[in-house]
Amino acid sequence: MISKVLICVLVLLIVFILVLLVNTMRFKPSKSTGNNSVKAAPAYKSKAEEDAAIARFQALLRVKTVSYNDKSLINYDEFKLFEKTLETLYPLIHANCEKTKHGTTGLLFKWKGKSEKAPIVLMSHYDVVPVNQELWSKPAFDAILEEGVIWARGTLDTKGTLFGVVESVEAQLGDGFIPDVDIYLSFSGDEEISGDSAPSIVQYLKGKGIVPSLVLDEGGAIVEDIFPGLDQPCALIGVGEKGYLDVSLKLSGQGGHASAPPAKTLVTRLAAALIRIDKNPFKSHFTPAVTEMFTTLGRYSNFTYRLIFANLWCFEPVLKILFKKQGGEMNALIRTTIAPTKMEGSKAFNVMPPAASIGLNLRLLGTDTVESAVAHLKDVSGDADIEVEVMEKRNASPYSGTDTEAWQKVSASILEVWQDVIVSPYLMLAASDSRHFCEISDNVLRFSAMTLSKEERGLIHGNDERITVKAILETVSFYQQLIHKFS
Ligand SMILES: [Zn+2]
Repeated sequence: MISKVLICVLVLLIVFILVLLVNTMRFKPSKSTGNNSVKAAPAYKSKAEEDAAIARFQALLRVKTVSYNDKSLINYDEFKLFEKTLETLYPLIHANCEKTKHGTTGLLFKWKGKSEKAPIVLMSHYDVVPVNQELWSKPAFDAILEEGVIWARGTLDTKGTLFGVVESVEAQLGDGFIPDVDIYLSFSGDEEISGDSAPSIVQYLKGKGIVPSLVLDEGGAIVEDIFPGLDQPCALIGVGEKGYLDVSLKLSGQGGHASAPPAKTLVTRLAAALIRIDKNPFKSHFTPAVTEMFTTLGRYSNFTYRLIFANLWCFEPVLKILFKKQGGEMNALIRTTIAPTKMEGSKAFNVMPPAASIGLNLRLLGTDTVESAVAHLKDVSGDADIEVEVMEKRNASPYSGTDTEAWQKVSASILEVWQDVIVSPYLMLAASDSRHFCEISDNVLRFSAMTLSKEERGLIHGNDERITVKAILETVSFYQQLIHKFS
């Protein structure tokens, strides 16, 4: 009897292992994600042309278009100077494209195409975040070029992509190229402070009944070391972005002298609530964007990870536990995250505060909404007296598909410039202006056309932001390839 059960178990185990192995063997790289034989021509024909282009890039970087949340600190003269600089450096764009202004700093150029087919929108923003100059090795707005590297705020985020767009459009205009469809260039000057420029541009286009077949904004990039068990560089195209929610958990009551505190102070109660919130995270979900990323990149991983990603039906629960334990990006891909960012109580050591608060920053997965997230916090905080005040809020964006012409054109252009990368969708954890365009287009893709090492990724919004000349020239190449797809 025992031996029969044992044999049964053994047979089942062998079948189970076989299923896992067969799935893993069949989980091979798909042809559409890599190995393109078409190679993009260099962006410029000579070293002199290249140097002239880099000088134009430096001129854009030297304009201090710094956004501050405290708007009284913003120097709008710099934004006007940037507009003027664009006009001087890109005369053909200004002579041939209709320019309109929107919101506080939004610039929109319309390059008229041959047909009335759905247009495309190439987006970027020209404002940058403030710098802490003492922590920089070089002046942040001098755009110093040293040993093939340009140092300046905005090189990566994201005057670089703006430069790629205007350089390629100016060059195509010079060649007499007319695109098949209208191409809009949409540049906002207040993305970093969630300003009104991009929303105003969207309302303007919406008013004209325009439904773009592709909207391309900053987002993923050519990156390495981001996916378990994968050595190859990947081109990550954001097909959606998470929502955003700032909440303040507040308790108020009796303040007073700290010499005779009550049994439970406001601060202790808030701290206890935070611990309960931390112990009850949001449920994890493998949303379509993330599943597609795993099944695209997983095929190129080493054997162990291929085994896991080929058999998500079996390993999904294990991965969820693992990611939760690890925290960081993988965890953020599969759940709404909660980051406690602020705590406020008394200003003095010996005074009990009459009110205390904890600030939380949540990034919402599409499976949660602002309302459901607030309800979850109230539910798990376990203290009915805690007031949950919502400050800034927005739901996650919808997902754009990958079986579209828009995706194919962006993906093909990437493979023509960076031949050995794996193109994959991903869910963007940060926010971009492109979210506003989801109102008028189903094809909103987020890709910053540049290679970014792990170190460079850390420079975005940080100190010593810089880009190599090689990388920025590739950015221009990418936009040239993409624009030619609309001929
Ligand atoms: Zn940006």
